[in-house]
Amino acid sequence: MRDFSCDHHWLSINTATVRQQRGVDWPLPQILEACARRGIRAVAPWRDQVAAAGLQATSRRLRDLGLVLSGYCRGGMFPYKHAAGQAAARGDNQRALDEACELGAPCLVLVVGGLPGALAGQAAHKDLARARQQVVEGIAELLQAARERRMPLAIEPLHPMYAADRACINTLAQALDVCDALDPGRTGALGVALDVYHVWWDPLLQQQIARAGAARLLAFHVCDWLTPTTDLLNDRGMMGDGVIDIPRIRGWIEAQGYAGFSEVEIFSTGHWWQREGGEVLDTCIQRHRSCV
Ligand code: ZN
Repeated sequence: MRDFSCDHHWLSINTATVRQQRGVDWPLPQILEACARRGIRAVAPWRDQVAAAGLQATSRRLRDLGLVLSGYCRGGMFPYKHAAGQAAARGDNQRALDEACELGAPCLVLVVGGLPGALAGQAAHKDLARARQQVVEGIAELLQAARERRMPLAIEPLHPMYAADRACINTLAQALDVCDALDPGRTGALGVALDVYHVWWDPLLQQQIARAGAARLLAFHVCDWLTPTTDLLNDRGMMGDGVIDIPRIRGWIEAQGYAGFSEVEIFSTGHWWQREGGEVLDTCIQRHRSCV
């Protein structure tokens, strides 16, 4: 297992971690500069942040600062009620793919979606199996384009508490079932983004990480699970402040050959988004060395 204690060579910052500090948006160009200034080598930006800063401008700035991506957030949201919804999801995913290519991302992360309409507060139906089928069909279609562009797709299984509104793929086993169905040759075109926040509780985690192997492990996201957790979405903890044994999980993926970045992804309305951005980044560096 790699020694992270002396440097932060393998630290990446998911830019949602510092996107809004004390109620004020921290623009992506400034986040990138603050990361580069601290010797952070990689980031994972969100599409709306890139759109606000401009795709070409962001691409140039990344190159100028010597930053690379650990992933691009995000595509997905495949389930639909009507054909118009399917077409909209299709178009949006193609654009996400284009952007990921322009930015030189190593993978496009997929948050696959749940029941159509649920995220907006009004689920169109209760048929989770149908939503899951549409997810598989949506990924299959996107995968064709992604293969041509040589852009790997990383399915991110989300904690079951998000099954209705954000992702109906909820375990690593389920994500790997989709990978095996659509990419049986393990070509590297389809894999998973493993986020400890979503999978730490899974009794099959170690076994399924072994099943995934290096070919399917495309990204590793870290934060911590706080007790108590006060918000289902935006109360993620800084590494070391909660109950996830992050080094143990990192050991499992590295035993399979994972040698990529450890991407800090913290949504924290009540705590970390109330701090000064530079302080948050400094804390990420410190905890990356001591708790990841
Ligand atoms: Zn994640």
